[in-house]
Amino acid sequence: MEHLNVPPQEHVKVLDGQGWVGLIDHLGTESTIVNAARVSFGKLKSDMDERDVKLLEYLIDNRHTSPLEHIVFTFSIHCPLFVRGQWHRHRTWSYNEISRRYTEIDMEFYTPQQLRRQAESNRQASVADPDFDSSALVAEIDAHNKHCMALYEKLLNSGVCREQARSVLPQNMMVTFWGTVDLANLLHFLELRDSEHAQWEIREYAIAIKKLIKPYIPNVAAYFEKKGQAW
Ligand SMILES: Cc1cc2nc3c(=O)[nH]c(=O)nc-3n(C[C@H](O)[C@H](O)[C@H](O)COP(=O)(O)OP(=O)(O)OC[C@H]3O[C@@H](n4cnc5c(N)ncnc54)[C@H](O)[C@@H]3O)c2cc1C
Repeated sequence: MEHLNVPPQEHVKVLDGQGWVGLIDHLGTESTIVNAARVSFGKLKSDMDERDVKLLEYLIDNRHTSPLEHIVFTFSIHCPLFVRGQWHRHRTWSYNEISRRYTEIDMEFYTPQQLRRQAESNRQASVADPDFDSSALVAEIDAHNKHCMALYEKLLNSGVCREQARSVLPQNMMVTFWGTVDLANLLHFLELRDSEHAQWEIREYAIAIKKLIKPYIPNVAAYFEKKGQAW
């Protein structure tokens, strides 16, 4: 049996190689989208031609989103708890996650390579400062992770249950979850999370998802690129 913490074959690494997002499965193609739009007229086509691409663009442009809901992706995501917290606010995804009530193996912690400064203009945002030497603070984060892990193990070894012992684990503990979403809601997620308003860490995942799904929806990606958005 494979372990959940091993990325699937199709995956993109993020957060300096400490996290990843992988594609587990997908349903439908771009021709499914245009066929779904044509269900209204009782017509079906198997190949995409130029008129279909125009129809696809029209659907996205006009937020005629229901045909996009016939494309579905399932991802496996390995990320820090604080990214998972932001991700799970997206209610249109279906989630399943490894439970620390069941298992205490394969515990990892995300240690950023470089710390960012607090933005002054926006209380939610941060700024990369090349002159900020954060290496000593990063080493302290690493030591703190090890200390939390040692306390967690001490609690378990003292007979404390896993469901209480986990409360001492920090926000940067890595978790793995599966997320399934249709394309309409995925595009909404990508708009919000591949944005300069989103936290850098979750943005890394949004950018990685774009890379992963581009081969499956090349004309959708090209549409956003034509509009000047990175894909
Ligand atoms: C940059 C940024 C900063 C944020 N800061 C905060 C913050 O400080 N505090 C905070 O609490 N959250 C914050 N959030 C989370 C944000 O409020 C949303 O919860 C999150 O982005 C999910 O968006 P969504 O609801 O549109 O997505 P989904 O939950 O995937 O929903 C997609 C769409 O479906 C519809 N929908 C889904 N559920 C319902 C429902 N129950 N009723 C009606 N319509 C529904 C809506 O049209 C919605 O836009 C932030 C998000 C971002 C991107």
